[in-house]
Amino acid sequence: MSIYDKYETIIGLEVHVQLSTKSKAFCSDATTFGASPNSQVSIISLAHPGTLPRTNKTHIHSAAKLGLALGCKISPESRFDRKNYFYADLPKGYQITQDRMPICVGGSLDILLKDGFRNIGIHHIHMEEDAGKSIHDVDPKYSLVDLNRAGVPLLEVVTEPDLRSAEEVDAFMTAMRQMVRYLDISDGNMEEGSMRCDVNISVRLKGTEKLGERCEVKNVNSMKFARRAIDFEVKRQIDLLESGGRVLQQTLNFDPVSGTTSPLRSKENAHDYRYFPEPDLPPVVLDENVIRELKATLPALPKSLYQQFVHEFKLSHDDAVILIEDRDFALYFLGNTQQSKSVKATANLFINKIRPWLSEHKKSIADFPMSDKQIQNFAKLIEAEKVTASIAYSKLFPAMMEGKKELPSEVAEQLGLLKNTDSSELEALVDACLAANPKEVKAYQNGKKKLMGFFMGELMKMSRGTADPKMGGKLLREKLDIRY
Ligand code: ADP
Ligand code: MG
Repeated sequence: MSIYDKYETIIGLEVHVQLSTKSKAFCSDATTFGASPNSQVSIISLAHPGTLPRTNKTHIHSAAKLGLALGCKISPESRFDRKNYFYADLPKGYQITQDRMPICVGGSLDILLKDGFRNIGIHHIHMEEDAGKSIHDVDPKYSLVDLNRAGVPLLEVVTEPDLRSAEEVDAFMTAMRQMVRYLDISDGNMEEGSMRCDVNISVRLKGTEKLGERCEVKNVNSMKFARRAIDFEVKRQIDLLESGGRVLQQTLNFDPVSGTTSPLRSKENAHDYRYFPEPDLPPVVLDENVIRELKATLPALPKSLYQQFVHEFKLSHDDAVILIEDRDFALYFLGNTQQSKSVKATANLFINKIRPWLSEHKKSIADFPMSDKQIQNFAKLIEAEKVTASIAYSKLFPAMMEGKKELPSEVAEQLGLLKNTDSSELEALVDACLAANPKEVKAYQNGKKKLMGFFMGELMKMSRGTADPKMGGKLLREKLDIRY
C-alpha cells in the first residue's frame, strides 16, 4: 500500500456562474460576449463619483430559480454587501456581493457517477458582480484593462466539503452546467469563462473525522486544469504531512505550464475585505407569490427525467444519460414517446441517428427536419419489424433527411426498403445464394456450422438488406439440412 492510499481527499467548490442577462447586475450596460474592449462601459461601470447602482430583476430571479432547482431555502429578504479591495480591473475599489445574508441557503446537487447519483451539499448561493479583465500578455510594456466584464451578474455557488476526487469535481461541474442550461440562466460555457471555480482541497487520514487544513486554488477555468491542480495539490499535501510538516491554509495559483501550484497569499496576510452592508441598495425582498411563480416556471430537471427514463421506460443507464444531456433534446424525446409504444426504438433513433445528425450539422433539435409524426412512424416501422434497423438507419434515415414530406413507411415502400417476407421470393434468393457458394455449402455440410453467419451475410447482400433475417435464416437452415 502506498502512502497516498492512507489519505482521503476532501474538496469543496466555490463555483462562479456568469448569467446570460442582457444587461449588467447594477446598470443597463450590455453584456455581449466578445464585444470590442471597453465598448460596454457607462459611467456606472466606470464608477464615476455620484453614480448609483440599481438591482437587476433577472439577476435576482435567476438566483432564486437555481436555488429552487437545488432545493435551497430562498431567503425572503437578503442583502448586498461591499467587499473592498484594490485592483486595476475594479474601478469602484469594491465588489458588490452578498456576505452575511445570501439569497439561497442549503440545498444539494445530484452528480452522476459511474454507479449512479451522489448528492453533494450546497452551503449557499449568493449574487455578486464580476470584475473587469486585466490583460498582461498583449502589450510588452503595459498591462491592459477591459472593463466590459465589470459588473456582469454572477451567482456564486458554495458547496459543502462533500467532494472526494477530481472525478467527482468533474461530475459536479458537468451537473452544474447542465442545470444552468436546463434553467436557461447561463450558457455554462467554461471555455468562454461563463463558469469558473475555486477549488478548496485538504487531505485527512482515512477513517478520521476531523478535516485537514485546506488550500484554495483560485480561478480554475477548465476541467483539465482542475484535475491537474487537484492531483498536484493532493500529492503535495500528503508529501508534506508524511515528512512531518504541516499544511498551511493558503490561497494558491495553478500554473498550467508547469502543472504546479504556488502561493498567492497565506492566511497570515490574507485579504481583509472589510465587508460592510452596501448602503446604495435596498434589501432584496422575494415574497411568497413571486417564489411560487418562479417555481412554476422550472422545467423538468435532469434527475427526474433520468429516473423516468430508467424506471418507467426501462432504458439503460447509459441511454438515459445521453438522452438527458440537453434539455430541449430530452423534452423532444419525451414528447415523442407520449403517443407511442415504441419507446426503445424511439430512444435508439434519438441516440444513434438524430443526435449525431444534429451535432454533425451543428443544429439544435428545433431545426430537425422530421416531424413528430414522421419520427413516431419511423420508430414504429422498426419496432414492428417492417424494416430492418440497419436498412432504416443506413437508407431510410438519409432519405428522410432530404426533407421528405411523406411518412417513412411510404418512403420505405417507394424505395423498396420494406422487409422482404414474401417466402417464394425469399426462397428463390436462398437457392441462388447456396448455388453461388458451393464450396461453403460443402464445408457447412461437413460440419462447419459457423458458416451460417456467412450465408446470412450473402443473403442480406443479395437482397440489398431487405430479407427478413428470421425467415431467411430458417429457409437457409432447412435447405442446407435437407441436402445433408
Ligand atoms: P471562506 O469563506 O473562508 O472562503 P468557507 O469556510 O466558507 O471559506 O469555505 C469555502 C469553501 O471551502 C467551501 O466550498 C467549503 O466546502 C470548502 N472547505 C471548507 N473547509 C474545507 C476543508 N477542510 N477541506 C476542503 N474544503 C473545505
Ligand atoms: Mg472563499
